Amino acid sequence: MKPASGLLLWLLRRFGFAGVTLYPIGIYVLPEMLGDTRLHKHEMAHWRQAESMGAVWFYVTYLWYSIRFGYRNNPLEIEAREQERY
Ligand SMILES: [Zn+2]
Repeated sequence: MKPASGLLLWLLRRFGFAGVTLYPIGIYVLPEMLGDTRLHKHEMAHWRQAESMGAVWFYVTYLWYSIRFGYRNNPLEIEAREQERY
């Protein structure tokens, strides 16, 4: 995980997110969240989703699910939240 800066940091704070997985570039989080294990597990779950689905399909699916189900009930988010426990 890397600390977000510049525009990305502004966007995360503006929209109330702790971090974002930008596969295959990296995982960026709020500087104060760098040591957060739960967040790390959550974002790593997204990283693995993108790895197994392929980047393009991951982003298309993620966007579609977000529109269809909303952020909270996006199946990719539900899966990532479940992975926070392991
Ligand atoms: Zn997530």
